[in-house]
Amino acid sequence: MHLASLDILHFRNLSQISLEFSEGFNVFYGANAQGKSNLLEAIYTLAFLKGFRADRLCDLIEFDAQKAQLAAVVQNNHATVRLGLELDQKLRRPFVDGMPCARARDYLGILRTILFVPMDVAFLQAPPQLRRTALDRMVFNLRPAYLIDLEQYQKIQKQKSAVLRSETPDLSLLDVYDAQLLPIGCRLIEARYDYLRLIAPHIRHVFASIFDQSLECLPVYHNANMRDDIQLGSGHEIPLAQVLDAYRNAMSKARERELARQQMIEGPHRDDWSIALNGRPAKLYASQGQQRAMSLAIKMAEIACLKAEADIEPVFLLDDVSSELDPVRHKRLFEYLNQLTTQTFLTTTSREHVHVDSVARMFSVDNGSIQHVC
Ligand code: ATP
Ligand code: MG
Repeated sequence: MHLASLDILHFRNLSQISLEFSEGFNVFYGANAQGKSNLLEAIYTLAFLKGFRADRLCDLIEFDAQKAQLAAVVQNNHATVRLGLELDQKLRRPFVDGMPCARARDYLGILRTILFVPMDVAFLQAPPQLRRTALDRMVFNLRPAYLIDLEQYQKIQKQKSAVLRSETPDLSLLDVYDAQLLPIGCRLIEARYDYLRLIAPHIRHVFASIFDQSLECLPVYHNANMRDDIQLGSGHEIPLAQVLDAYRNAMSKARERELARQQMIEGPHRDDWSIALNGRPAKLYASQGQQRAMSLAIKMAEIACLKAEADIEPVFLLDDVSSELDPVRHKRLFEYLNQLTTQTFLTTTSREHVHVDSVARMFSVDNGSIQHVC
């Protein structure tokens, strides 16, 4: 899959942009605060219907403009899809091939995008909610139907929490919600467990290629109802059936505590995940550089996993990677990237930071204007 072209009107500081891209590397260089990350955010917004730095739609619209418009041509094998998106202060209107697309779930997944931003290097130290959302997005990228279960779970969670907070909670209503939650919760746990199992060898491989052959980097699933961490890809995983039993068991005993605390306690909405380095929690033992390399390795493993499991080649957005690694690892990172057939959008403050092969287009970014230079 690749993005052939992109048209932007009034998106952040990008007033009017019209670009055609290489199927390989597209490098955007320029000084700070010129619009490089804004360009990546425009692509990300087309893919996910929201920005990566803004909670509110209005933050994405150029100051003083009424609405922003994005349009792109996506090539997927031999099929061409035209995506469009209009954002005003309150509403987003997605279009596919010129037709309005009423349900987000029919739109999401058409443009598969993997994003790395400098903030991701703090991934291991981030609050669990951010990691959980990142995992959900990874699972969704591979299996778009996951979103249906996730949204349903969150909807029932909200309804159940409201009952728990009421003065006299309706116990029979809680029974109904629990009966609905249990099968969906099991499917979420299974999808996360399976996903981490699938991505494990890719994380190990990418981390070893870029960082250190002698270190084993593997994902760890912290299921909310299991006392022990589940190291996936290690060959000694706790079986999924045991994890599901623990969830069912916890749900069957949770009522009294939930009523006392007036909140929903047990279930995958409290899951977390992390990385182990040679079997030890990377959060506690890995160096800063190792943690940076891990966060990059996770993104690149996600790309490899999508390719291996679903023959999908997403678009990779790599924001400001230049400052993250030492020179040797930086070189290996580009050696790795150069082997891929993935369309990659890179931003940098300096062209010297980027070592891409000949299938590349360079763009200079200056005060919201973007020029193709070679
Ligand atoms: P850096 O190298 O520092 O990361 P950058 O080129 O990635 O810089 P961007 O994050 O793309 O910079 O931001 C470019 C400019 O866009 C900033 O000056 C920012 O204030 C401005 N900007 C952000 N949101 C809007 C908006 N809604 N309307 C107009 N300008 C905006
Ligand atoms: Mg930036």
